[in-house]
Amino acid sequence: MTIALNLDHATALRPSAQRATSLVGLLKPEIAAALQNIGLDEREARMRAKQIWNWIYVNGVTDFERMTNIQKGFRQTLAEKFILDRPEIVSEQVSSDGTRKWLFRFRDPQNPRLPPVEIETVYIPEEDRGTLCVSSQVGCTLTCSFCHTGTQMLVRNLTAGEILGQVLMARERLGDFPGGARPDDGGLVPGGESRAITNVVMMGMGEPLYNFDNVKQALLIASDETGISLSKRRITLSTSGVVPFIEPAGREIGVMLAISLHAVRDDLRDMLVPINKKYPLKDLLQACRDYPGLSNARRITFEYVMLKDINDSDADARELVRLLAGIPAKINLIPFNPWPGTNYDCSSSERIERFADIVNKAGYASPVRTTRGRDIYAACGQLKSETERLSKKDREALSA
Ligand code: SF4
Repeated sequence: MTIALNLDHATALRPSAQRATSLVGLLKPEIAAALQNIGLDEREARMRAKQIWNWIYVNGVTDFERMTNIQKGFRQTLAEKFILDRPEIVSEQVSSDGTRKWLFRFRDPQNPRLPPVEIETVYIPEEDRGTLCVSSQVGCTLTCSFCHTGTQMLVRNLTAGEILGQVLMARERLGDFPGGARPDDGGLVPGGESRAITNVVMMGMGEPLYNFDNVKQALLIASDETGISLSKRRITLSTSGVVPFIEPAGREIGVMLAISLHAVRDDLRDMLVPINKKYPLKDLLQACRDYPGLSNARRITFEYVMLKDINDSDADARELVRLLAGIPAKINLIPFNPWPGTNYDCSSSERIERFADIVNKAGYASPVRTTRGRDIYAACGQLKSETERLSKKDREALSA
């Protein structure tokens, strides 16, 4: 059963008619600098920045008026100068298996006259965890041939505030902030966990390493222990293989790494994941071997979508094992999730089992990912929005 919720405007935050600086997505020193710019001295700016940070990320506040440890007069000044931006919820769908998908809408931070953009974010509740799959771009420049997002041209990168806005809005909808109410559709909160969202994966729309600075800033904020406080071991960044940014991702962000591998030969990977033409398997796997902090406790996840008669033979499985030799790795086998217009089919379950068996016998954990949210097109590789890139002429006209 699929339930589509129509949200009224009380739950969807108003887009600001007039842009002011949003404090969501700024690091604490940046909030302090913004406060100094409106006249606070350095000491007070630092102190107020900490308070505001706590209201935004610990308490989930979206209105300066609720910041009760800040004087009323100054709360008004803050409301005149700044905003606490969150996305508007266009739709929220709940799958029969409890997976939840939101279509979020953002205004352009630089130019409110430009049409808003829309992206999808997915929440997957499981027995022992609740995972939020977050988008980093509107559309994608890459055209992985098995991926629905890849059919949507890149419109723009999301800002750090927009990446975090997905986490904040999802936490609010799932009752993760103090005093918040859990949705009443059951099966949502994993057993024993006090939070609905225990893990974040950058596996939604877009290639996160092509939006490195914003993704880095958002993940550093999400993992800051004085705020949302997600352990870096519970955050996974998934890349199709942007080799030059893999080492910086480990060194500067320090989260878990996942690679969208999907093929074990360059000729096939050139077709499935075309960025392979630029960064072939040899370079990609070397970047994985060099990933900072790699160990048996911090393994790289290799994602492998199972495509019937394309990449699912015994020889492919054996070559996969050979390629990954020496890399602390986990292999995620993903049954292909069809989308309108695709030419691929999913491998049979017997074939997937046989493939998993070869990989398992070689000593790799190779769980077959259970397909979640297929009835609401929330499954892996199915995300897409209607937002289209404006022509240069239209952009210039709206920016004038
Ligand atoms: S798999 Fe990732 S990188 Fe490839 S087209 Fe889809 S969203 Fe883009």
